[in-house]
Amino acid sequence: MPGFELFGDKERAQVNEVLDTGVLMRYGFDGMRKGRWKAKELENALEERFSVKHAQLVSSGTAALTVALASAGIGAGDEVIMPTFTFVASFESILAIGAIPVLVDVDDTLTLHPAAVEKAITNRTKVVMPVHMCGSMADLGVLKTICKKHGLLLLEDACQAIGGTYQGKPLGSIGDLGCFSFDYVKTITCGEGGAVITNTSEYHTHADHYSDHGHDHIGTDRGAEKHPFLGYNYRISELNAAVGLAQIERLDDFLAIQKKNYSILRTALETIPEVTFRRVPEGGEESYAFLNFFLPDAKTAKKVHSTLGKEGVDACFYWFDNNWHYYKKWDHLTNLTSLGNMPLEVKRQLPDYRESDFSLSDHWIGRTISCLIKLGWSDDEVNDRAQQMRRVIISAL
Ligand SMILES: *Cc1c(COP(=O)(O)O)cnc(C)c1O
Repeated sequence: MPGFELFGDKERAQVNEVLDTGVLMRYGFDGMRKGRWKAKELENALEERFSVKHAQLVSSGTAALTVALASAGIGAGDEVIMPTFTFVASFESILAIGAIPVLVDVDDTLTLHPAAVEKAITNRTKVVMPVHMCGSMADLGVLKTICKKHGLLLLEDACQAIGGTYQGKPLGSIGDLGCFSFDYVKTITCGEGGAVITNTSEYHTHADHYSDHGHDHIGTDRGAEKHPFLGYNYRISELNAAVGLAQIERLDDFLAIQKKNYSILRTALETIPEVTFRRVPEGGEESYAFLNFFLPDAKTAKKVHSTLGKEGVDACFYWFDNNWHYYKKWDHLTNLTSLGNMPLEVKRQLPDYRESDFSLSDHWIGRTISCLIKLGWSDDEVNDRAQQMRRVIISAL
């Protein structure tokens, strides 16, 4: 998945254009910048690539989620449904605006289980936030129907699945709002950065203002800009955007490499009858950022993961035991361990997730191993890795 593996001349040339003028800020300084607007240009490229009306760049994927929620008017006391398997950024962004994260089960798609979503809806629910983890997607058709029926927003976290599609549409462009991350380990990188995409002009205007202190960006005099509402600083810098401009041009090449390497690994494992693969919803095509497969039980999965590690087959993850990505280890969320006081509303409503019944998630995540697909592997390296993985799995069964 990581674009940083192929950082090169194109990225350097883009960054040098920014260094040449010295205008590192995305807004203003019109006279000094010699017509160079890297953030603006990358937003246009994102709009074109994802066939959406609007893209707003921000400083990170976490900022993108926060800005997306804020742009739709989500705030204190509102409930946002999110999966038990994700990255901590999901609940961080929800808590940042005073809203309440409501965790629900994942199924064999490794993303939101639609029936669990429907069960979790209350009269305070405002948003359903599927997270397209590890290169593949939630069952977006069903989630869309649920959202429509209950009048909820669908916000896609496509940070790990850029380039994947559902019914021919790019992931991120299917919900009311979609978010990407361009941090250093994502498929394409800005170093740090993120984006919100939407077809709703009002959300975009809000995102544009909110991510820059609420400035309305009207007129040419920065000091005279008005503030229709309170905002914050989630701006991206021109340097980061410049890196992203070079990387987005290479996205299709990166996806092709991912697909090639993924296919070699998958073909090797497919001949083992006990290995099954993550379900991709009908009409979906993965981004091939990871190969995700199931072993018959948690004990075997644990053993395979540990043997792969010992044998030097890196980049394979057993999420069940992972602090960053699975609810079981999120004590800081369950206990609301924060530096200052949390809003009482959140404190009162947050359930004890360790006591919640997420046996469906445990069933699937307990058996899952995910292998990051790297861009820099040689053909020999992928083939060796495929044979090594086959051998380790067969001997663990
Ligand atoms: C990386 C990631 C984020 C956050 O992105 P940052 O740019 O690192 O803040 C959010 N959600 C998912 C699923 C991610 O993988």
